[in-house]
Amino acid sequence: MKVIRSIKTMQNICSSLKNRRTIALVPTMGYLHEGHLSLIKLAKKTADVTIATIFVNPKQFGKNEDFSRYPRDEKGDLRKLKTLGVDYVFIPNEKKIYPPDHQTSVEISKISKLLCGRSRPGHFTGVATVVIKLFNIIQPDYSIFGQKDYQQLAVIKTMVKDLNLPVKIICSKIIRENDGLAMSSRNAYLNKSERILAPCLYKGLRKVKRACLNGSVSVNKMRQIFLTQIPKNKRVRVDYIECLNTNNLSPIKMYAKKDTLVAAAVFIGKTRLIDNIII
Ligand code: AMP
Repeated sequence: MKVIRSIKTMQNICSSLKNRRTIALVPTMGYLHEGHLSLIKLAKKTADVTIATIFVNPKQFGKNEDFSRYPRDEKGDLRKLKTLGVDYVFIPNEKKIYPPDHQTSVEISKISKLLCGRSRPGHFTGVATVVIKLFNIIQPDYSIFGQKDYQQLAVIKTMVKDLNLPVKIICSKIIRENDGLAMSSRNAYLNKSERILAPCLYKGLRKVKRACLNGSVSVNKMRQIFLTQIPKNKRVRVDYIECLNTNNLSPIKMYAKKDTLVAAAVFIGKTRLIDNIII
């Protein structure tokens, strides 16, 4: 496994691989858990060469968000990636990715404003901008993203389609802890009592799914069912619970057929957790 920190070197390696071997890219912000590693395993099955990136992207964090305290563990990450047989890990320098005169960004205007976009304005523009930069540096044939961040996946798919980018986006399923909590680097922020509360998010989503599979349910009813699983505790606050069409993220009024996404964000203490389920 080679660790590459220079943009130019990564670009040269990828252009020399191009046309001889297929490349799968897995972008991450590091502090890797089993969820990330499942994306790597899928990448290894998909293409000849697997490239993981570790970059905590400042442009996708709001002013009062957790950029400076976002958990980092480069040594541990490299050990995990090496065990899985990753070919290259790209760890670019923040100042090289965003030099002082950087002024271009990519905005996916509509779907960036829904769901997480409402409480995190500018977040998806930051995500899309760094992802297109990684695509341009690495020129992957495939890039793997987790269903865990469903809106991010939808934003990237829309960018790829709208800008005719020559990369295939692959979705990988959500990996969970034994009690159902979706794995996330941010779970590290939860203290003991918050960690006990955290699985309520997935419990609520599962309860909604069960109700829908028993017949058609209105979105209002779906919301009520979700809320029955959320403890009445001042440390728990629902940011949103929304039901949408999986393909274009347009809101639905009623569950009546498949292709429904139920997505939620809940604050447990100061930590904002997201999760979703497809029915
Ligand atoms: P992050 O490091 O949070 O930017 O995540 C990097 C990639 O890992 C994204 O495509 C995420 O959707 C994906 N990911 C994060 N958590 C999980 C999980 N629990 N299961 C599967 N994929 C995940």
